[in-house]
Amino acid sequence: MSVRCEIAVTPSQINDAATVRHKFVRKAGIDGRDLDSLKIIKRSLDSRKQPIYRLQIEGFLKGEEPVQVESISDSFQRVDQAEPVHIIGAGPAGYFAALQCLQLGLKPIVFDRGKDVRARRRDLKAIQQEGVVDTHSNYCFGEGGAGTYSDGKLYTRSKKRGSVLKVLQLLVEHGASEDILIDAHPHIGTNKLPKVISAIRQSILDFGGEVHFDKWVTDFEVSEDRINRLIFADGQVSTVHEVILATGHSARDVFALLHRKKIHIEPKDFAIGVRIEHPQSHIDRLQYRQSPREEGLPAASYRLACELDGRGVFSFCMCPGGMIVPASTSPGEIVVNGMSPSRRDSPYANSGMVMSISLEDLQKEGYSGTFAGVKFQQDIEQAMYLASEQSLRAPAQRLLDFVEGKRSIDLPNSSYIPGLFNVRVDDILPDFLSRHLKKGLRVLGRKMPGYLTNDAVVVGVESRTSSPIRIPRDPTLLQHPEVSNLYPCGEGAGYAGGIISAAIDGQRVVQSIFEKVQR
Ligand SMILES: Cc1cc2nc3c(=O)[nH]c(=O)nc-3n(C[C@H](O)[C@H](O)[C@H](O)COP(=O)(O)OP(=O)(O)OC[C@H]3O[C@@H](n4cnc5c(N)ncnc54)[C@H](O)[C@@H]3O)c2cc1C
Repeated sequence: MSVRCEIAVTPSQINDAATVRHKFVRKAGIDGRDLDSLKIIKRSLDSRKQPIYRLQIEGFLKGEEPVQVESISDSFQRVDQAEPVHIIGAGPAGYFAALQCLQLGLKPIVFDRGKDVRARRRDLKAIQQEGVVDTHSNYCFGEGGAGTYSDGKLYTRSKKRGSVLKVLQLLVEHGASEDILIDAHPHIGTNKLPKVISAIRQSILDFGGEVHFDKWVTDFEVSEDRINRLIFADGQVSTVHEVILATGHSARDVFALLHRKKIHIEPKDFAIGVRIEHPQSHIDRLQYRQSPREEGLPAASYRLACELDGRGVFSFCMCPGGMIVPASTSPGEIVVNGMSPSRRDSPYANSGMVMSISLEDLQKEGYSGTFAGVKFQQDIEQAMYLASEQSLRAPAQRLLDFVEGKRSIDLPNSSYIPGLFNVRVDDILPDFLSRHLKKGLRVLGRKMPGYLTNDAVVVGVESRTSSPIRIPRDPTLLQHPEVSNLYPCGEGAGYAGGIISAAIDGQRVVQSIFEKVQR
């Protein structure tokens, strides 16, 4: 019988196999000569006091072997002649839906408006260096979806441990490091994600599925209660059976198309705010009480949240050792987001700092109807662009100046490549949003003393944290209540928030299609 126990090691001991073994033997109370091998099951960093790693370890005695985890990809079936499932969107929801099809013996046919992950990189360079935004190939659109050029943080609030593990296992089988299976806060890194995405595409193709790029769905042919054909911008038409719509939160044209076709969609609450960037050394000092941080410690991160007058203000998508990126999907708007490389070794730490926006807020601001939230987002994104003299330089203000409502004399250095534009960000944001964010930041500054500093900069605007629209679906069958072969899926439809939950939603929707096909 194997032996399990938890040990604590210092950061400098984390890669020292002899020390880990020695501590395990002592804690487990076994004779070291009987121990054959160790397997780390969970690794978490506890930095409440002096930072230490907690390791949950399983030890195997002589003659015992760790049980091999079964490969999920081994269960993929050839699907050339199988029942087709049309998937619009090659983001995490669409691609994990496609992998689930391979497991269940359905043929995935994926369409994406953007380019393959490698070609997409050139368009990102054009945004960063020339300020040119391609409306089909950018930080949100293209193979891998919005999650590709991201931090690749893989934690989720989903309580379905089995489903989360399945997604992580599939990522490992497609080239991600096995560390993601044991880390309490796993992440892949923007430099490693494209290889994983390409490997997923290769699996889809190898087993007889299809993936098509530059395929922008601009219309549907609907009759009775079904979508019969998809119509693409290049004039091509595709006859379809079951359709998974996984187009993400930035595909505003898809929301408009559904509305035009009288397919019901509804407005929902979402969140909006700014991105805040500190020097990484500052966050290390606050979190670890040391800077430079000792060997074995990763760039420190934080998670902050408070509730004020019944409304949340919270940090979002924190990227330690990362950079702020321009995530606009159209010219004439500024949207920012964050990403980090796998080593998280940039000198900056950035995070979204957002607040929830309700339909009631929108109404008070004069926005109504289905597209109230979309219009509100758009107005702020365009106001940011105008404020920065119609460039992709992002409006920015030092953090304390933002909280105190003062123009900054100058700005600190930043990771944001198009550059920052010194302006009162608090003045560009709608007044209620600005006031509430400032109030929230004061509270959060007390929770994390030292957080509010003029060494940090506030950058506008973090507007694409979640979808302002929900595409309704039956809670059991997961199909649209009015269109029986339409399966709204992932973040854009309002059923996910992040890479893992979008992937799980893709798998769930395919399971439901499978059961329907079986019936
Ligand atoms: C810079 C950045 C960093 C992020 N960092 C993280 C992170 O570290 N961890 C995390 O969990 N989440 C992160 N996110 C959020 C995460 O990326 C999303 O939650 C996730 O990608 C949503 O998956 P999805 O498949 O539902 O939609 P998306 O990823 O948005 O994919 C939608 C796809 O549909 C395609 N599409 C849209 N319209 C059409 C059309 N009409 N026809 C054909 N194709 C179309 C798009 O090209 C796109 O590829 C980040 C997002 C960004 C922008």
